[in-house]
Parts: sequence; structure tokens; C-alpha cells
Amino acid sequence: MSFDSVGFRQQFPQLQSKIQGQDLVYLDSAATSLKPKRVADRLYNYYLNEVANIHRGAHFLSRQGTENYEAVREQTKHWLGGHEGEIVFTRGVTEAINLLSYSLGFEHLGLGDVILLTPYEHHSNIIPWKILSENTGCQIELLDFDRTGNITEAALNRAFSKNVKLVSMMLYSNVTGVRLNVETVIKRAQAKGAITVIDAAQAMLHERVDVKKLDCDFLTFSAHKMLGPFGVGVLYGKKELFKDLPPFQGGGSMISSVSWTNTVYQDAPFKFEAGTPSVADVIAFGEALKILQEASLEDWVQHGKKLGLQVEQALKQNSRVQLISPTYADARKTDIISFNYEGAHSSDVGEMLDQMGVAVRAGHHCAQPLMESMGVSGTVRVSLAPYNNEDDVEKFVKAMEKIKGIL
Ligand code: PMP
Repeated sequence: MSFDSVGFRQQFPQLQSKIQGQDLVYLDSAATSLKPKRVADRLYNYYLNEVANIHRGAHFLSRQGTENYEAVREQTKHWLGGHEGEIVFTRGVTEAINLLSYSLGFEHLGLGDVILLTPYEHHSNIIPWKILSENTGCQIELLDFDRTGNITEAALNRAFSKNVKLVSMMLYSNVTGVRLNVETVIKRAQAKGAITVIDAAQAMLHERVDVKKLDCDFLTFSAHKMLGPFGVGVLYGKKELFKDLPPFQGGGSMISSVSWTNTVYQDAPFKFEAGTPSVADVIAFGEALKILQEASLEDWVQHGKKLGLQVEQALKQNSRVQLISPTYADARKTDIISFNYEGAHSSDVGEMLDQMGVAVRAGHHCAQPLMESMGVSGTVRVSLAPYNNEDDVEKFVKAMEKIKGIL
């Protein structure tokens, strides 16, 4: 059965809205995805009828909330392929990596130790490690990935000849859409006894991520980029590693017992979830996960690629456009296409598109070191999701033609 793109699109009321008097053409899903009505309804219903704090109430609503919250943890575990105690809810990827850099970093890394990152990383997978490095004396080095997401044996040998203790890298670039070959790095890291962290922020609408298959130690993603609400993310971690990590934050819910002389922490995941969590958001995230479970991701990928190829094709025909992303023919990638326009600043192109009703992102995309290595200050980024259609692409192409006439 092929993907019912018309029916799927209807689940997103925002796509019917007018923005500054024009139909919305939303091509900024790498920043955040639109939210299906079912997710918004779940949030609304929770706030209208189900509010109670969880894990400690003596009453029905609290028990129901706890069950619903924990059911989403279970759902996430099945979706990713993890085990009991391996799914921690955070505020998002940023908080998850900060948690790791603090808990794991201060515990296991010190002077002379090396952390490997890639040149592609988002600031949220750079700054926490930089802070750690400034505080402990450990060093950050880069894995020499090429623009198609591959790395040579020689580059791996060079990188792993150092005292590598941890590798943290993204699965898909939020700038070029390229999928990095994390599998080869994970194998090397394992041989070296180094810990692996995967930032899967851009992966979840494009690939069925299986943590057991990847065999990474930690993996994180944010709900808001995969049809879910803001304020929720997931940190997957192998149970035996979570066991040895100290908590990131202290507070309610994360202890078994506390006195003035002694504190006993709960096991993971609760050890890492201090305070009242984003109950409504986690429960609504469960609805987003259900939508993903009901979908055929393979169909979504085909649909996105068809549209992405149309965008790529149109851009290639304009001699003043410099494609920053490699093409679909050159690399395995998601439907993110970055480009620049000769003689124009990326933010000016973004603004012109906005005036024609097309929402894209322009700038450095929180990847300034990558921009620097590519010799650009920013890019215009088109990013697609399964609710986009050919009409969206056509409007984008027409808007680009108008820009060609102006610039
Ligand atoms: N990593 C990547 C690859 C991203 O694209 C983003 C969001 N743009 C993040 C990390 C950070 O995610 P969040 O802001 O949801 O924590």
C-alpha cells in the first residue's frame, strides 16, 4: 500500500492556515516538525481532564498519569529496541548531551583523554564537551568525515591512535542532510574501549533507528522534530553504563532515601529525572510515536526523496545557485537541501522566500564550525517532512524563479 500523502497532510491543521495572507509552505521541518492534530488533542485533553502530578499521588488521576507516562517510556523502548531502565526522558537533545558531559564526562574523562567529534556537529554536541574540556583538561579532536558522510580507514587510524575515551557524533547533518557512517566509528570505538554517543536529532522521521543494531552506548533525540511536542527528549543508554553514572541534577523523584547523612539514589531512569517532568508533553509524545508506528517509514522516505529530488533538480538548473548539500546520487541523506545564492546573503534569500509565503531557515544552523570549514557564513536550508507535497515544491520553485528575476 502506498503512502496516502493527502490524508496524512490533513492531520496538520497548521497547513491550512494563512501566513501574512498566503498559504503556508512549510519547508523548515529540520528546525521543528509541525504537530498533527492527534498530538495537540492529546495535550489538550490531558490539560483539560487528566492533570495530576505523577509517581507520588495517592489518588486515581495520579495513578492514571503515572501509568500513561510510563507507558510512553515502554513504547519508546520498543520503538528503539532498548531494555528496561534504558530510556530517560529529558528536555531534548541539548539537555541529554549536557547530562552526559556532566555525569559521564566529569566521572570518566580527565587530562590527556580525547573526545572525538565530527566537523558536522550542532553546537549542542560541541559546547557541552568544550565546557568539559575547559574544566578537566581533556581534549577535543575531529574525525575527518568527507562531505558524503564517509571516513577513510587512514583517517580512522589517525583518530584512534590517540587516547580516545569517548566519541560523540550525529547521525544526520542538520545542515546538509547527509547520513554519517556512524557504524564504522562505533566498531572502532568499541575496539578501543571508548564510549559512543549518537545525536539522532534529525533521524527519526527518516530512518527506523535501532539501538541494538547500532550498538551505540548512548543515543538521543528530541520529540519536537518528530511530530511531538516541545520540551521532551529521549536519552537512551545501555543499562550497565547508566548504572555507574552519577546523577546530573538532584531533587525530588530521583532518590530512594535521603537523610542529612546519607542519600541513596534510585536506579536509572529515575536517577536522571529529578523534579516534576513534562508529564503532558511526554504523554502527547506517545501519540506522535503511535503515528510513526502506524506509518510505513519506507513510504515516507520514498515520498520525501521524490520531493527532495525535485527541489535539488530545480536548484541545479539555476547557475547562480551553489548547492552545499551533496546530491541524492552522491550521498545517503535525508530531505535537507542547503544552498547559497551568488551575490546574496543567505538571510536575504530566506527573507525573500518568507515574503512569498515559503518558510525556510537561513543562517549557520547552530553549526558555526562547519560553516567555517565550508568557507561560508551561512546557507539557505530547505527541509522536508512527510506532510509536504508537490504543490509545496512548485511554490518554492516559483519563488526561486522570482528571486532570480530580482537579484
Ligand atoms: N543536534 C542536531 C543535529 C540538531 O539538528 C538539533 C536541533 N536543531 C539539536 C542537536 C538540538 O536539539 P534540541 O534543540 O531539540 O535540543
